[in-house]
Amino acid sequence: MKRNRRDFLKLSSMAGIGLASTQIKSARAAAPARGSNANKIVRDRVATVLEDGTVLHTPFRRVESGRDGPALLLVAAQHGNEVIGSEVAMRLQDICERQLTKGSVWLLPMANLLAIRVRRHSFGLGPEQNNRIHPTKEHNMQRWPGSPDGNNTQRVAFALDQAVIRHCSHLVDIHCYQRMNAAETLGVLGHEPSRPLAEVTATRFMRFVLPAATPEKNMLINQLMLKHGGCAVGMELSGQFEISERQVQLGLSSMVNIAKQLGMLPGELEPIEGPRATLSKDNRHLAKAPDTGLFVPALVREKNRNLAPEDYVEKGQPLGHIIREKDLERVPVLAPVTGCLFSFGLCHGDLCDASLPAQHPYSEADETVATIVAV
Ligand SMILES: [Zn+2]
Repeated sequence: MKRNRRDFLKLSSMAGIGLASTQIKSARAAAPARGSNANKIVRDRVATVLEDGTVLHTPFRRVESGRDGPALLLVAAQHGNEVIGSEVAMRLQDICERQLTKGSVWLLPMANLLAIRVRRHSFGLGPEQNNRIHPTKEHNMQRWPGSPDGNNTQRVAFALDQAVIRHCSHLVDIHCYQRMNAAETLGVLGHEPSRPLAEVTATRFMRFVLPAATPEKNMLINQLMLKHGGCAVGMELSGQFEISERQVQLGLSSMVNIAKQLGMLPGELEPIEGPRATLSKDNRHLAKAPDTGLFVPALVREKNRNLAPEDYVEKGQPLGHIIREKDLERVPVLAPVTGCLFSFGLCHGDLCDASLPAQHPYSEADETVATIVAV
């Protein structure tokens, strides 16, 4: 019976939907549900009583192998405009349903539902406001462990910790930078047990910058996790207000490697190609617009796409050109150094992903077009 179920899963993953659905019926008829090789998926919700007495339900899932082992938690969208990790969580569920060999994987894909519903970084922000100009920042979820009688965001945070976070041993907290920034792994500085989580992710860039100290209140979620005795890592994927395939895959590869590192999934670790890069004051080089006009990004011919954050460039390579305002001459912007693009593209001010004018290609002379980390 078990072998049949496994064969069915293999087959249905390759077959079209129509074929798979007819086979589901016969497989169910042939094998009792408990005989399935699939790991159990628990579907649950965290209930939070809000200030007005209504109840908010934040959904979460847990894949259970039925064997002892780590409890690995993926938290996505603590900031409501940073949602790539939500899809990473759903795909990780699919992999773990079939392959998880020990422990459990907890998935909280829409941690800050109140902020997601208003399509903003935090609940309480107005149009085209980012967190930096939030009047009080009191609705930034990153003030753990929250409070059952605080504002709505603090209440949700408290409930999430009670129902989910404190039951887990390892945390991956996925955020998103603005789209002109490359994805980056943010490790906990000075907490050795957390170090391997950062080292096996799939991003080109990595820094150990998250604090390990655990204050009593207003903690980052990684600090809360350490306070509970666990390990943590943060990730910033690239692009807010959107879910792009390339970034989903980067997040998923990272999660799979972390689960392998913890012995929860079978198979070898898959390291990134080429060196990892760490941004620092010493290796950071800026490419600036040589003149005023419109910036046109260079094409990567073999990939038929524009140059993008995380790409490798060589010293002297064109990053693009400026269509000069005064005489329509095309003035090249050249890479000042060999390395990887930590940022690429114009960002006028703080609101690059919330405001279209902030992304406009019109550049003043000397505006930064790219940040390159030498490797
Ligand atoms: Zn964030």
